Amino acid sequence: MSRYRIPGPLGIYGEIIKDGTLCLGATATPGPVGTPKLDRINNIVHATGSSHQIEHWSKQLKETVDTPIKSGKYWVTWAETNATQSTALNDLEVGFKSNVDSFLKALTNAGIKFTVSTTKRSPLRAYLFHWSWKIALGKCKTSEPSKVAGVNIDWDHGDDQKSKLAAQEMVDGFGLAVPPKSTVAPALTSNHILGKAIDITFEKWVGTIKIKKKDNVEVAVEYKSDVNANKLLHEVGASYGLIKHVHDAPHWSFNGR
Ligand SMILES: [Zn+2]
Repeated sequence: MSRYRIPGPLGIYGEIIKDGTLCLGATATPGPVGTPKLDRINNIVHATGSSHQIEHWSKQLKETVDTPIKSGKYWVTWAETNATQSTALNDLEVGFKSNVDSFLKALTNAGIKFTVSTTKRSPLRAYLFHWSWKIALGKCKTSEPSKVAGVNIDWDHGDDQKSKLAAQEMVDGFGLAVPPKSTVAPALTSNHILGKAIDITFEKWVGTIKIKKKDNVEVAVEYKSDVNANKLLHEVGASYGLIKHVHDAPHWSFNGR
Protein backbone atom coordinates (compact mmCIF):
# COMPACT_ATOMS: atom_id res chain seq x y z
CA MET A 1 0.00 0.00 0.00
CA SER A 2 1.18 3.51 -0.73
CA ARG A 3 0.36 6.54 1.33
CA TYR A 4 0.07 10.00 -0.12
CA ARG A 5 -0.41 13.53 1.01
CA ILE A 6 -2.72 15.19 -1.45
CA PRO A 7 -1.56 18.78 -1.90
CA GLY A 8 -4.01 21.20 -0.35
CA PRO A 9 -4.16 23.97 2.23
CA LEU A 10 -4.43 21.60 5.18
CA GLY A 11 -2.85 18.56 3.59
CA ILE A 12 -5.06 15.56 3.19
CA TYR A 13 -3.81 12.07 3.55
CA GLY A 14 -4.69 9.35 1.15
CA GLU A 15 -3.87 5.73 0.75
CA ILE A 16 -4.21 3.27 -2.11
CA ILE A 17 -6.38 0.66 -0.42
CA LYS A 18 -6.65 -1.76 -3.32
CA ASP A 19 -6.04 -1.82 -7.05
CA GLY A 20 -6.60 1.69 -8.25
CA THR A 21 -8.73 2.87 -5.33
CA LEU A 22 -7.48 5.93 -3.51
CA CYS A 23 -9.00 6.41 -0.07
CA LEU A 24 -8.86 10.01 1.08
CA GLY A 25 -8.60 10.82 4.77
CA ALA A 26 -7.44 7.27 5.36
CA THR A 27 -4.91 7.95 8.04
CA ALA A 28 -4.00 10.61 10.57
CA THR A 29 -0.40 9.48 10.93
CA PRO A 30 0.88 8.91 7.44
CA GLY A 31 4.08 7.12 6.56
CA PRO A 32 6.15 8.15 3.56
CA VAL A 33 4.55 10.93 1.60
CA GLY A 34 4.29 10.82 -2.17
CA THR A 35 2.10 11.81 -5.03
CA PRO A 36 -0.48 9.38 -6.32
CA LYS A 37 -0.15 8.49 -9.98
CA LEU A 38 -3.44 9.74 -11.25
CA ASP A 39 -3.43 7.43 -14.24
CA ARG A 40 -3.47 4.47 -11.87
CA ILE A 41 -6.53 5.59 -9.98
CA ASN A 42 -9.92 4.31 -11.10
CA ASN A 43 -11.83 5.14 -8.01
CA ILE A 44 -11.71 7.64 -5.16
CA VAL A 45 -13.42 6.94 -1.87
CA HIS A 46 -13.58 8.77 1.44
CA ALA A 47 -12.72 7.43 4.81
CA THR A 48 -15.48 7.75 7.39
CA GLY A 49 -16.17 11.23 8.75
CA SER A 50 -15.03 12.95 5.59
CA SER A 51 -14.58 16.65 5.95
CA HIS A 52 -15.38 19.52 3.65
CA GLN A 53 -11.72 19.68 2.53
CA ILE A 54 -11.77 16.04 1.57
CA GLU A 55 -14.90 16.50 -0.50
CA HIS A 56 -13.30 19.44 -2.23
CA TRP A 57 -10.02 17.74 -3.09
CA SER A 58 -11.75 14.55 -4.02
CA LYS A 59 -13.77 16.47 -6.60
CA GLN A 60 -10.66 18.11 -8.04
CA LEU A 61 -8.74 14.86 -8.20
CA LYS A 62 -11.65 13.12 -9.80
CA GLU A 63 -11.85 15.69 -12.55
CA THR A 64 -8.17 15.15 -13.32
CA VAL A 65 -8.56 11.39 -13.24
CA ASP A 66 -11.61 11.52 -15.49
CA THR A 67 -9.92 13.57 -18.20
CA PRO A 68 -8.93 11.09 -20.92
CA ILE A 69 -5.36 11.05 -22.20
CA LYS A 70 -4.87 11.06 -25.97
CA SER A 71 -3.58 7.92 -27.67
CA GLY A 72 0.14 7.80 -28.48
CA LYS A 73 3.52 6.83 -27.00
CA TYR A 74 2.38 7.72 -23.48
CA TRP A 75 0.28 4.56 -23.37
CA VAL A 76 3.20 2.30 -24.24
CA THR A 77 5.04 3.56 -21.17
CA TRP A 78 1.85 3.45 -19.12
CA ALA A 79 1.32 -0.19 -20.05
CA GLU A 80 4.83 -1.11 -18.86
CA THR A 81 3.61 -0.62 -15.31
CA ASN A 82 -0.16 -0.87 -15.51
CA ALA A 83 -0.94 -3.39 -18.23
CA THR A 84 1.93 -5.80 -18.35
CA GLN A 85 2.58 -9.14 -19.93
CA SER A 86 4.55 -11.81 -18.20
CA THR A 87 7.12 -14.34 -19.33
CA ALA A 88 6.86 -16.30 -16.06
CA LEU A 89 5.54 -19.85 -16.26
CA ASN A 90 4.12 -19.38 -12.78
CA ASP A 91 1.61 -16.89 -14.15
CA LEU A 92 -0.02 -19.57 -16.32
CA GLU A 93 -3.28 -21.20 -15.34
CA VAL A 94 -2.43 -24.20 -13.15
CA GLY A 95 -3.64 -26.97 -15.46
CA PHE A 96 -2.09 -25.46 -18.57
CA LYS A 97 1.15 -24.75 -16.69
CA SER A 98 1.56 -28.39 -15.85
CA ASN A 99 1.21 -29.27 -19.57
CA VAL A 100 3.69 -26.55 -20.50
CA ASP A 101 6.17 -27.80 -17.91
CA SER A 102 6.02 -31.31 -19.40
CA PHE A 103 6.40 -30.10 -22.99
CA LEU A 104 9.30 -27.77 -22.19
CA LYS A 105 10.98 -30.54 -20.20
CA ALA A 106 10.71 -32.89 -23.19
CA LEU A 107 12.24 -30.19 -25.42
CA THR A 108 15.06 -29.52 -22.96
CA ASN A 109 15.77 -33.24 -22.54
CA ALA A 110 16.02 -33.48 -26.33
CA GLY A 111 18.58 -30.64 -26.31
CA ILE A 112 16.35 -28.07 -27.97
CA LYS A 113 16.86 -24.45 -26.97
CA PHE A 114 14.02 -21.96 -26.88
CA THR A 115 12.84 -18.73 -25.29
CA VAL A 116 9.45 -17.91 -23.83
CA SER A 117 8.32 -14.39 -24.73
CA THR A 118 4.77 -14.23 -23.34
CA THR A 119 2.72 -16.21 -20.88
CA LYS A 120 0.02 -14.09 -19.29
CA ARG A 121 -1.17 -10.77 -20.67
CA SER A 122 -3.27 -8.11 -18.95
CA PRO A 123 -6.68 -7.60 -20.62
CA LEU A 124 -5.94 -3.88 -20.63
CA ARG A 125 -2.83 -4.54 -22.68
CA ALA A 126 -4.85 -6.67 -25.09
CA TYR A 127 -7.29 -3.75 -25.41
CA LEU A 128 -4.50 -1.30 -26.25
CA PHE A 129 -2.94 -3.78 -28.73
CA HIS A 130 -6.22 -4.47 -30.49
CA TRP A 131 -7.50 -0.95 -31.01
CA SER A 132 -4.17 0.76 -31.74
CA TRP A 133 -3.58 -1.86 -34.47
CA LYS A 134 -7.02 -1.34 -36.00
CA ILE A 135 -6.93 2.45 -35.91
CA ALA A 136 -3.34 2.70 -37.20
CA LEU A 137 -4.25 0.48 -40.15
CA GLY A 138 -7.45 2.37 -40.87
CA LYS A 139 -9.59 -0.70 -40.10
CA CYS A 140 -11.94 1.13 -37.76
CA LYS A 141 -13.12 4.55 -36.66
CA THR A 142 -11.79 6.17 -33.50
CA SER A 143 -15.32 6.07 -32.09
CA GLU A 144 -15.46 2.26 -32.30
CA PRO A 145 -13.37 1.16 -29.29
CA SER A 146 -15.54 0.54 -26.25
CA LYS A 147 -14.62 2.22 -22.98
CA VAL A 148 -12.73 0.04 -20.58
CA ALA A 149 -12.41 0.68 -16.86
CA GLY A 150 -8.82 1.49 -15.97
CA VAL A 151 -7.76 2.79 -19.40
CA ASN A 152 -8.89 6.36 -19.82
CA ILE A 153 -7.70 6.80 -23.39
CA ASP A 154 -9.00 9.12 -26.08
CA TRP A 155 -8.33 7.66 -29.53
CA ASP A 156 -9.67 10.69 -31.37
CA HIS A 157 -7.23 13.51 -32.14
CA GLY A 158 -9.86 15.44 -34.05
CA ASP A 159 -8.23 14.56 -37.36
CA ASP A 160 -8.09 11.10 -38.97
CA GLN A 161 -4.46 11.33 -40.02
CA LYS A 162 -3.34 12.49 -36.56
CA SER A 163 -5.38 9.76 -34.87
CA LYS A 164 -3.79 7.14 -37.14
CA LEU A 165 -0.27 8.41 -36.50
CA ALA A 166 -0.82 8.40 -32.73
CA ALA A 167 -2.12 4.82 -32.91
CA GLN A 168 0.89 3.92 -35.08
CA GLU A 169 3.20 5.16 -32.28
CA MET A 170 1.57 2.56 -30.07
CA VAL A 171 1.82 -0.20 -32.70
CA ASP A 172 5.54 0.58 -33.05
CA GLY A 173 6.08 0.93 -29.30
CA PHE A 174 4.41 -2.39 -28.56
CA GLY A 175 6.19 -4.03 -31.50
CA LEU A 176 2.96 -5.40 -32.96
CA ALA A 177 3.17 -7.48 -36.11
CA VAL A 178 1.45 -5.79 -39.06
CA PRO A 179 0.68 -6.99 -42.62
CA PRO A 180 2.09 -8.94 -44.36
CA LYS A 181 3.43 -10.64 -41.18
CA SER A 182 0.09 -10.54 -39.44
CA THR A 183 -3.16 -9.69 -41.15
CA VAL A 184 -5.39 -9.93 -38.09
CA ALA A 185 -5.59 -7.52 -35.17
CA PRO A 186 -4.16 -8.82 -31.87
CA ALA A 187 -7.09 -10.49 -30.13
CA LEU A 188 -9.12 -8.72 -27.47
CA THR A 189 -9.88 -12.05 -25.86
CA SER A 190 -6.51 -13.76 -26.22
CA ASN A 191 -5.89 -17.02 -24.40
CA HIS A 192 -2.90 -15.20 -22.88
CA ILE A 193 -5.37 -13.26 -20.74
CA LEU A 194 -6.54 -16.52 -19.18
CA GLY A 195 -2.97 -17.77 -18.81
CA LYS A 196 -3.78 -20.57 -21.25
CA ALA A 197 -1.33 -19.65 -24.02
CA ILE A 198 2.42 -19.35 -24.36
CA ASP A 199 4.73 -17.82 -26.97
CA ILE A 200 7.83 -19.90 -27.66
CA THR A 201 10.65 -19.13 -30.09
CA PHE A 202 12.97 -22.00 -31.00
CA GLU A 203 16.67 -21.77 -31.67
CA LYS A 204 17.69 -23.37 -34.93
CA TRP A 205 18.86 -26.97 -34.61
CA VAL A 206 20.66 -29.14 -37.14
CA GLY A 207 19.41 -32.45 -38.50
CA THR A 208 16.65 -34.32 -36.75
CA ILE A 209 16.22 -34.44 -32.99
CA LYS A 210 14.21 -37.09 -31.21
CA ILE A 211 11.63 -35.61 -28.83
CA LYS A 212 9.52 -37.72 -26.48
CA LYS A 213 5.78 -37.40 -26.68
CA LYS A 214 3.72 -37.73 -23.55
CA ASP A 215 3.30 -41.49 -24.17
CA ASN A 216 7.14 -41.74 -24.33
CA VAL A 217 7.13 -42.50 -28.06
CA GLU A 218 10.02 -40.60 -29.69
CA VAL A 219 9.40 -38.45 -32.74
CA ALA A 220 12.31 -37.37 -34.95
CA VAL A 221 11.76 -33.70 -35.65
CA GLU A 222 13.60 -31.43 -38.07
CA TYR A 223 14.01 -27.70 -37.50
CA LYS A 224 11.83 -25.61 -39.80
CA SER A 225 12.28 -21.85 -40.05
CA ASP A 226 8.51 -21.70 -40.53
CA VAL A 227 7.38 -23.21 -37.23
CA ASN A 228 3.76 -22.97 -38.41
CA ALA A 229 4.57 -25.72 -40.93
CA ASN A 230 6.40 -28.02 -38.52
CA LYS A 231 3.63 -30.63 -38.21
CA LEU A 232 5.74 -33.13 -36.28
CA LEU A 233 6.62 -30.55 -33.66
CA HIS A 234 2.92 -29.66 -33.40
CA GLU A 235 2.17 -33.35 -32.88
CA VAL A 236 4.61 -33.53 -29.97
CA GLY A 237 3.14 -30.37 -28.42
CA ALA A 238 -0.40 -31.67 -28.84
CA SER A 239 0.46 -34.85 -26.94
CA TYR A 240 1.09 -32.59 -23.91
CA GLY A 241 -2.03 -30.49 -24.50
CA LEU A 242 -0.30 -27.58 -26.26
CA ILE A 243 -2.02 -26.89 -29.56
CA LYS A 244 -0.16 -24.83 -32.13
CA HIS A 245 -1.84 -21.76 -33.62
CA VAL A 246 -0.96 -22.21 -37.30
CA HIS A 247 -0.97 -18.51 -38.27
CA ASP A 248 0.84 -17.10 -35.25
CA ALA A 249 4.45 -18.27 -35.22
CA PRO A 250 5.31 -18.38 -31.50
CA HIS A 251 1.83 -19.12 -30.19
CA TRP A 252 0.69 -22.35 -28.50
CA SER A 253 -2.40 -22.66 -26.36
CA PHE A 254 -4.85 -25.08 -24.78
CA ASN A 255 -7.13 -24.95 -27.84
CA GLY A 256 -4.94 -23.66 -30.67
CA ARG A 257 -6.35 -20.14 -30.58
ZN1 LIG B 1 0.70 -15.69 -28.23
